[in-house]
Amino acid sequence: FNDYVSGFPKESDMHVNVSGTIKLKVPEGSNGIIVKNLYLSCDPYMRNRMKKPVSGSVANSLKPGSPIVGYGVAKVLDSGHPNFKKGDLVWGTTGWEEYSLITDLQNFFKIQHTDVPLSYYTGILGMPGMTAYAGFYEICSPKKGEHVFISSASGAVGQLVGQFAKLLGCYVVGSAGSKEKVDLLKNKFKFDDAFNYKEEPDLDAALKRYFPEGIDIYFENVGGRMLDAVLLNMRVHGRIAVCGMISQYNLDKPEGVHNLMHVIYKRVRIQGFTVFDYYHLYTKFLDLVLPHIAEGKIVYVEDIAEGLESGPAALIGLFSGLNVGKQVVLVSHE
Ligand code: NDP
Repeated sequence: FNDYVSGFPKESDMHVNVSGTIKLKVPEGSNGIIVKNLYLSCDPYMRNRMKKPVSGSVANSLKPGSPIVGYGVAKVLDSGHPNFKKGDLVWGTTGWEEYSLITDLQNFFKIQHTDVPLSYYTGILGMPGMTAYAGFYEICSPKKGEHVFISSASGAVGQLVGQFAKLLGCYVVGSAGSKEKVDLLKNKFKFDDAFNYKEEPDLDAALKRYFPEGIDIYFENVGGRMLDAVLLNMRVHGRIAVCGMISQYNLDKPEGVHNLMHVIYKRVRIQGFTVFDYYHLYTKFLDLVLPHIAEGKIVYVEDIAEGLESGPAALIGLFSGLNVGKQVVLVSHE
């Protein structure tokens, strides 16, 4: 990553460095691990780490000139840590490089279940999956039969939130930015309905069409004009889980929200959350989701770019909706 980014990120904000070297042995006395990176995860928050440091931000800014840092799946080549040994498959925060020395092993997980695609640990079984789980079950207080709306619904987090809500017996509608994504929502993820927000000049009218009786739960991934339209359509005692606001990440000055008075009229609870507070639930989450995957009750769509050099384009593609499903970068098959 070259320098702090303002506005839309570009491929030229990053470059591939072919000259680095790393000793494939953990330094004497270190309790870190050396890994070979297999899959890297492209996540919207990574854009926020390319901003000049601002106080109050959850994600710390990266240092210009340093490798991009993000979630990934990797294989341990050498370990100075008692919990990890050579040959273990792991997921957690790693570098956008072929090999990494990892010294911060907080929130680093050993992969125990390998009868699923390994790339799933960047998505459904990794950070985005935990986000969907914590956001839906811990923040939304969902009940059977409630009316649920999800924005950016075909993405890494949204596709799973919608399937959780369907399994609970909710009425579920999602928005996404293309016909292909809308078809996925309806046909693959079995949402009750879906619409392309780019073809809806009046989002309030669109939401009234899909939710004539209003929305009980809004899973917020985009912010901006969608949030404003949702506020006009919430039901009394509705809940809004604020997961992300991707429409705001590339703006120097975030847009204002105009309809907050409706939070009072409808007694709406709006709650932000970050996944980092919920990793203690990871085993419980796996116990829920793994059987559903095995039985085909939950499906997951990934968009896999091949090769480390495809990383910059894949990452910036998130901000124009080029990814169809969870965006992953394949570095190496083991
Ligand atoms: P996605 O896989 O959904 O990818 C991003 C998608 O955002 C794009 O494909 C695009 O889809 C949509 N998008 C891009 N720009 C805009 C825009 N201007 N307006 C509306 N939609 C836009 O990402 P994730 O599922 O990984 O993340 C979803 C949200 O969850 C993000 O806001 C992210 O920051 C947040 N998040 C929060 C976490 C937390 O701990 N709170 C953890 C993980 C993620 P489309 O074609 O539909 O426009």
